[in-house]
Amino acid sequence: MTANNQNNAHHCDALVIHCIDFRFHEAIKNFLQNELGIKSYDLLTIPGAAKHLTAAGSAARRDGLLEDIGISIRLHEPKEIILINHSDCGAYGGRTAFSDTTAEEAAHRAALEEAKSVIGGKHQGVRMRSYYARLLDQTVTIS
Ligand SMILES: [Zn+2]
Repeated sequence: MTANNQNNAHHCDALVIHCIDFRFHEAIKNFLQNELGIKSYDLLTIPGAAKHLTAAGSAARRDGLLEDIGISIRLHEPKEIILINHSDCGAYGGRTAFSDTTAEEAAHRAALEEAKSVIGGKHQGVRMRSYYARLLDQTVTIS
């Protein structure tokens, strides 16, 4: 047994929740590892990421997601939950559903805040951070 394998526990740095959209996976992975220094994480990919945790989503999916989040917390005790929404997300009607990119980002940031509050209502005391990923000219930036 090694020092980091006590009682067969396997804990991760974070639980990450982001959209299924393939255009963002590589950039998100790099951001998590290189910008945030997260070495290990559970990953939930859901169309729309925060969407189904908010009132705009499906209540059935929300219950399922809260259960999935609970499983990650129970099994792997992540130090924090990281939620990431992205631009031009089909679950929100894509880029054209918004008047401009500022309105689009504001809507996603509001959804992320609402989702954090919903998760916090179910799983008290868990640290959460949220980010928004933008795709422009084949380049993804996340902040
Ligand atoms: Zn998406």
